[in-house]
Amino acid sequence: MQAPPSGGSPPPQQAPPPKRKRPRRKPAKKPAAQKPPPAQQQPPPGQQPPPQPPPAAPPPAALAPATLIAAIIAALSVAVTAAGLAVALAKIMKAAGIGYLALRAVCILMMSWPESPLEGTGPAQRAIIRVNTLRRAQFFLAACKRVQVAVVDARSHGGPIRQAVRDALATERRYMTLHVNASTRRVTAATTVDGASEAYGPLLSWNAVMDARTTAECRAADGKSFYATRPPAIGYPGTVHPHCRCTPGPPRPGAAILP
Ligand SMILES: [Zn+2]
Repeated sequence: MQAPPSGGSPPPQQAPPPKRKRPRRKPAKKPAAQKPPPAQQQPPPGQQPPPQPPPAAPPPAALAPATLIAAIIAALSVAVTAAGLAVALAKIMKAAGIGYLALRAVCILMMSWPESPLEGTGPAQRAIIRVNTLRRAQFFLAACKRVQVAVVDARSHGGPIRQAVRDALATERRYMTLHVNASTRRVTAATTVDGASEAYGPLLSWNAVMDARTTAECRAADGKSFYATRPPAIGYPGTVHPHCRCTPGPPRPGAAILP
């Protein structure tokens, strides 16, 4: 499991889409006025003119993934209907290469993502709700990209586009189920961590069940320490993989802290 990006607390509310200012025309004319006198541009006799630089066309500003994810988190947090969600994100997703058809289909799917029943009463729960919010937005973006690929593919082959979207969405529904299950596991594990933290304090130990089935990651974490307030890079105990049997326990003096 990846660690959440630092400072990644989601914006609580969706800002209204900024009104685009009309581009001013005046500055565009300025470069012509600033043209150097022609005498300066003439090459010395007998020499080739210096190669002209290509016209200065600034590269299109790349849409930073973090910007996109932040916009998705904001839109998801206030979304009531799939249509409203699609409208809220249409512009920024179009800039990211996602067409409205793919976006709308994924928005409909996302509305069936169950809300977390927990408010987040302990520090581990609160940390995991932030992780889950981020993962949900990341899945949303990845699903949009995959459905968009299916749309483009169908279009290039002259195939039925709506059927391609339906097929792609059936796959996304299966992926989503896995993500929802992982989110639920993270909340359950965080609840256990908060309980252990109440008993032992914020510093806890990682305890793996050691047998032939123990994975390398859980084996390596066994006996180490972590803080309840911050999930280790591999997640809290019990969430490393679908059948993770690791649990939190009382702190062990001198044990290394998990990254
Ligand atoms: Zn484990």
